[in-house]
Amino acid sequence: MMDLSQSDVYLDSNATTRVLPQAAHAAFEAMEDLFGNPSSTHSTGLKARYILETTRNRIRDAIHADDGKIIFTSGATEAIQLAVFSVLSQLSEQQHATPQDTVPNYLLYGATEHKAVPQALEHWNHVLKTGCVVKAIPVDSHGKLSLDFLAKHIGQAKIVCTMAVNNETGVITPLKEVEGVIRQHHETVPWLVDTVQAIGKMELDLASTSIDYAVFSGHKIHAPKGIGFLYARPDASIVPLLAGGGQESGARGGTENLPGVAALGAVFQCLNDGDLSVFQSSKTLAEFREQLTEALEEAFPSIVYNGPLENSVSTTINFSVPGFSSKEILDLFDAAGVRVSSGSACGSAIRGSFVLEAMGLESWRSDSAIRMSFSTCNTDAEITTACQRILEAGKALCDSCLAISNSVGASRKHPVDGLVQLKHEDQCSWILLDQSSRTCVIIDPIEALAERIELLIRCQSCRVVGVLNTHTHPDQAHCHAMLTQLVSDLIDDPHDGCDHSGWPSAPLGEALLDDGSRAPFIQLAPERIIAKVELPGHTADSVSFLIGSMSQGNRLRAEDIHFAMTGDHIQIGGLGRSDTGTGDPTDFFRSLLRLAAIIDRKTVLCPAHDYGNGFCTTLAAEIESGGLLAQVLEGHEDAESFSTIKRDMDAQIENSSPLAWRCGLIQNPSGHHFVDIPAKDLPAFFGEHQDAMIIDVREPHEHHLTHDWQNLGLAMTPENVPLTRFTDFINRQLRQSPTEKQNQIICVCRSGNRSGKAAEVLNRLGVAQVWHVAGGLALGTPTNSNQIGIQEIEYLIWKLLRRKLSRRTTQNVDSHSLAKRNDVRFRKPIRFAFLRRNWTLKRAPTVHWTA
Ligand code: PLP
Repeated sequence: MMDLSQSDVYLDSNATTRVLPQAAHAAFEAMEDLFGNPSSTHSTGLKARYILETTRNRIRDAIHADDGKIIFTSGATEAIQLAVFSVLSQLSEQQHATPQDTVPNYLLYGATEHKAVPQALEHWNHVLKTGCVVKAIPVDSHGKLSLDFLAKHIGQAKIVCTMAVNNETGVITPLKEVEGVIRQHHETVPWLVDTVQAIGKMELDLASTSIDYAVFSGHKIHAPKGIGFLYARPDASIVPLLAGGGQESGARGGTENLPGVAALGAVFQCLNDGDLSVFQSSKTLAEFREQLTEALEEAFPSIVYNGPLENSVSTTINFSVPGFSSKEILDLFDAAGVRVSSGSACGSAIRGSFVLEAMGLESWRSDSAIRMSFSTCNTDAEITTACQRILEAGKALCDSCLAISNSVGASRKHPVDGLVQLKHEDQCSWILLDQSSRTCVIIDPIEALAERIELLIRCQSCRVVGVLNTHTHPDQAHCHAMLTQLVSDLIDDPHDGCDHSGWPSAPLGEALLDDGSRAPFIQLAPERIIAKVELPGHTADSVSFLIGSMSQGNRLRAEDIHFAMTGDHIQIGGLGRSDTGTGDPTDFFRSLLRLAAIIDRKTVLCPAHDYGNGFCTTLAAEIESGGLLAQVLEGHEDAESFSTIKRDMDAQIENSSPLAWRCGLIQNPSGHHFVDIPAKDLPAFFGEHQDAMIIDVREPHEHHLTHDWQNLGLAMTPENVPLTRFTDFINRQLRQSPTEKQNQIICVCRSGNRSGKAAEVLNRLGVAQVWHVAGGLALGTPTNSNQIGIQEIEYLIWKLLRRKLSRRTTQNVDSHSLAKRNDVRFRKPIRFAFLRRNWTLKRAPTVHWTA
């Protein structure tokens, strides 16, 4: 049993499974002792062949293959290729022999099939020039194949591919029903079934069906990666993909992966024996799902399931939480120590899920989908721990004001004081919260973030001083009114007059700016005001909001302006466009000069768009980057030459779609060099940089869920500086005196992705000397690999003892106990408690230095 207080609970078994100790030992033995080539005719080879054939027979028993062929492959993808190639190469031969059909031939597959299937069909159809049409059989919103479509098209099909269980949703295909339709309309069409996610979870009786090919993958059932097999009916054609030494009865050339086969053999032995100490019963698996769904529903009351639970295997739960992207929930679970995925492991780099899209689910569900998949070997203790952690995760969201508190337990809200940046794709909304006065102001709200903004403000119990827009955003025109309506009870007098930017018709007074001009202001707190200055150019109605504190005589000095909310006037590394219809390059030029005259070089500029994950910028950083803004501020351009250059630049901006404008041209995306510090140098690195500040740039709910900092290879518990608050942190850093300034900062996060971005920004803005831990905290997290390591040590000790014992006691051992000893089921390693105590994996991650 693993020590669950330390290690993660792995609930991503549809991606891959942990190798069973019995399987690992069988593989180990096949490498150490039974290492022969199964094709050799000497005794060593014969022993290897015995493993090969024993495994084949165990598989045959498990799937009721009768006299069907079992061909070992590297996995299911290869098995799919072998089946598809066999069918299409035969078709190609027939096409050469007889004239082409005049009607189109179809290669049919279920729309939610694993990508390996349609890709194989496309590939071999192209390579073998069979000229068929690859066609998806649609599914309904429950993931069920359209049998009407199948009935209509199967007559012209040359192959039909369906899956027994879907890998993303767990939806079960009613194979009997599908078979009825296929055989009613086409008695001989080859039928391939992907049984990868079904094996071990449901009874398979292949010989009693008309399935021609079925594909299996070892690593989905606790064998290692790199082994799988194809089942083929006795009369199904097999054309080898790999020609060679005639292995696998000539069906697949190449020396067999014997350690993989041995491991698979051990797994199938447990499966055939119905060993409940290894594989849980279906009743237990159903109870596990019930426990998990109960915890999920308590933690996330608005959860929706992306697939009918009643029609799915118990081991897969696919769900979405409204308002949260897959990545956010994934990060949350990861911090809580529960490993889940956002869909198919092969597609996790791709946004959304083609499976959920094929089911016709709304795109937000696909963008938010989480797949939680446990294995037939998970234990009660693991599921209980997972449930506890899910509840903790739900509570952490409430504490971070991202969800409404519920019965999960009393929320301990983390107070938010300062500027918050929320992003949706490349759009930014800014919320400034002032805890001293319990007030806030919202700038450039966007619809996709409206609920999150409302939740934050309500949760922090703040009154709303203003909902402001830096200019009319054509794609967000109605959001201002919508958000104002949502928080109307928090606005002092929502019906007071406001202009198009949300600015009150009766501001508190006027502030005197450094260029001698005056700007109306509203007050956030006694020490904090927001002034509005008109800076046309991007659009005619563009304004900037300056946030700072006034000194005597209502002076708002440049150095006292902390933030300038500049909308799309200044981009990070570029300028906003001025060809928006009401925009004008000459006005733009004048506005740039005016802005530079009233703010400080280190005033933090907060844009309405962030195209390159730059968060914010300053005039100093923009001048440093040497773009057009620098040319203007250094006096190299006048209004006329600027206008000519600007028009040219605007013409280069490509609109990705009429609604999603690129609101400016990024000329100087930040490019930085990273210098690797090898992992082994990490302790020395911390030794040399003892004064460095370590910051965890993950969101508070992730940070607070992490308890085992000591195990992560860090010198100290990091301070939490979430990316949503990063601009506020930058402002504080820029305003520190040289003596209080933190000169060395080390950024960390889960994967090294966010910390890399944070380091880049700090570096670009000249805040400090910055490093980030590449590879992230994930590399330092204790993994179960240390458990395997212990198991191997235990196994070796056990083996030594066994050898010694057997030498001493052979005469007294009866044949039954000898057989028992040789049976893999009894080769469970002895637990050596002393080895397990205090064992922690401290693998030092790599540190990158931003030069
Ligand atoms: N089919 C299904 C349903 C799967 O889930 C997978 C793996 O994710 C495959 C096929 C491919 O299996 P393998 O990794 O063995 O090639």
